[in-house]
Amino acid sequence: MPRTVITGGAGFLGSHLADLFIEKGHDVVVLDNLSTGNTDNIAHLAGHPRFTFIHHDVTEYIFLAGPVNYILHFASPASPIDYLKLPIQTLKVGSLGTHKALGLARAKNAVFLLASTSEVYGDPLVHPQHEDYWGNVNPIGPRGVYDEAKRFAEAMVMGYHRTFGMDTKIVRIFNTYGPRMRLDDGRALPAFVSQAIRGEPLTVFGDGLQTRSFCYVGDLVDGIFRLLMSGEHEPVNVGNPAEITIMDFAREILDITGSKSPIAHRPLPVDDPRVRQPDISKARALLGWEPKIGRREGLSKTIAYFRDRLDGRGAAPPGGGRAGATRPR
Ligand code: UDP
Repeated sequence: MPRTVITGGAGFLGSHLADLFIEKGHDVVVLDNLSTGNTDNIAHLAGHPRFTFIHHDVTEYIFLAGPVNYILHFASPASPIDYLKLPIQTLKVGSLGTHKALGLARAKNAVFLLASTSEVYGDPLVHPQHEDYWGNVNPIGPRGVYDEAKRFAEAMVMGYHRTFGMDTKIVRIFNTYGPRMRLDDGRALPAFVSQAIRGEPLTVFGDGLQTRSFCYVGDLVDGIFRLLMSGEHEPVNVGNPAEITIMDFAREILDITGSKSPIAHRPLPVDDPRVRQPDISKARALLGWEPKIGRREGLSKTIAYFRDRLDGRGAAPPGGGRAGATRPR
């Protein structure tokens, strides 16, 4: 029975990975300090004989007895409002946390996978983004704490791979959505859905002509599993290439929810990328992977989840703000 450690396993993506590896018959150990994750996301796994949760900050030394076969390093604040609120923690988990997780992988002779990000491409000058593109990142802007931490993490993973011959993988994750996203994480999707359901204005930042490409979480974790089992060591983009402007995305959410909310423009956050679309030719060729769930289907599932949360909890905190990080562009 393989034993798999997931750092950040109580977060949105980490918890879906925990489900997948349990399903595949692995023993799963989740490490999370719950700074942005939540045990609600893994509560259904509590008591499972192959599941363990350890409340731990992975920037501190990780002690784990027994064998480990796979380590997936997903711990990090990942939504813009979170890493703007937690800049030092974001830098630490990308650097010190990656170091500790790699150290554990080395000690256990485990396969290591880093959750990297499309943010390594910054505000890209090449479109769509292929893995060979080195990016256009502002190191000292507010998003730099996340972008540069992930770029450093990629460099450290390649350093361990080259120095110790470790079996490492790097996935560059593009915008992903689905159940268990936090309603208040400030990202476009939870913000728009909660605003649409409550009848509040949808807060479109800037002119709304910036683009993103949204991947359903079920497709994403399938791609990550395939990469983990592959022989590839260099970064691989995993995301859905279906690109849409944020304005059209807001309209689509109004349409699916049947909401009459107006759209209200707000200032564009600093260094907000103008475009983003993964070139997934490498994932297609190497992993035989491509997304299967279209936006309407994925959005319907996600909106049903958010409706339940909003009904169950009454008024959740608003999702639209990114205080202190905006300037007109
Ligand atoms: N966005 C928006 N309104 C919101 C939240 C986000 O218009 O309430 C925009 C944001 O400026 C960006 C896009 O939607 O251009 C996607 O933002 P998100 O935070 O979801 O992720 P990002 O891709 O920027 O990391």
